[in-house]
Amino acid sequence: MTAPILSVDDLRVSFPTPHGELHAVRGISFNVAEGQVFGIVGESGCGKSVTGRAILGLVPPPGRIVGGRICYRGEDLAAKSEPAMRGLRGRRIAMVFQDPAAALNPLFTVGSQIVAVMRQHRIAKGGHARRRAVDLMGELGLPRPEDVFDRYPHQLSGGMQQRIMLCMALAAEPDLIIADEATTALDVTIQAQILELLSTMQRRRSLTLVFITHDLGLVAEICDHVAVLYMGRIVEEGDPESIFHKTRHPYTEGLLAALPSGQTWREPLNVIPGSVPSGTAHITGCSFAPRCASVMPRCSTTEPPDVRFAGSHRAACHLYGDDAVPGETP
Ligand code: SF4
Repeated sequence: MTAPILSVDDLRVSFPTPHGELHAVRGISFNVAEGQVFGIVGESGCGKSVTGRAILGLVPPPGRIVGGRICYRGEDLAAKSEPAMRGLRGRRIAMVFQDPAAALNPLFTVGSQIVAVMRQHRIAKGGHARRRAVDLMGELGLPRPEDVFDRYPHQLSGGMQQRIMLCMALAAEPDLIIADEATTALDVTIQAQILELLSTMQRRRSLTLVFITHDLGLVAEICDHVAVLYMGRIVEEGDPESIFHKTRHPYTEGLLAALPSGQTWREPLNVIPGSVPSGTAHITGCSFAPRCASVMPRCSTTEPPDVRFAGSHRAACHLYGDDAVPGETP
């Protein structure tokens, strides 16, 4: 792999709560190659959105990064001042959020919000910025972009609002986009259109995309590489072929088994038994142990090793470590 565009090393993010420190991200490391679509997948509360926000220095207070490094093109983002990060956000790394209705300013026309991004980063101004914005809106499939430019967010459908968010993300021509559940709030048809659009833009502009989602099905469609998160840790990582067809980690197996697969409405969906422990819990050993059908005595006492398989495939599980005992049973 050539030098990664984004490198995250032992990132830790915590939130103080009345019940103790909530460890949202518990030491995750990954590299994203230039031009790659890197998927981060997991259940709600696994730390995937906090990871995306941490990259851009947008962890909501009182949360804070308590350890690790985030490097973008070799620059340590954590060492940057807030004004330096403001210059970088949108210009070099942009983010697309889940809920466009909440992310857009209801008081300004959508066109002026795209132009504001161009002005802020000195990409274009005045009539030139307007023309660029209209062209971008047309490229992103907004009908009659000249008219849409002067509309307010509430006058647009959810799908159109998300296209405007994509326009804003692309307005300053960044090379890395973080899409955080960018299609989750949309209905299924519009979701497919936005996904297709993201994919087209990524290829056309040679963008690097970090695609954050709870939906393994979407990951299969769009990603080159996938990291599966559970309780703030990466439990399995690899290309989609490895993750979907050579699955190693019991949690990933559980997620895959829970995907709907043509059941009738009478048949229950598969679920992973138990629930995710509190983020304030002190974890010894494997965080998935209370829910794992393959749990062994050492799983509750010793942190699982990070075991590498073919290519970039890896999983954190005692089933595969050097000390794995063939035939050892729960
Ligand atoms: Fe299950 Fe143990 Fe592997 Fe954790 S380390 S996933 S508890 S087998």
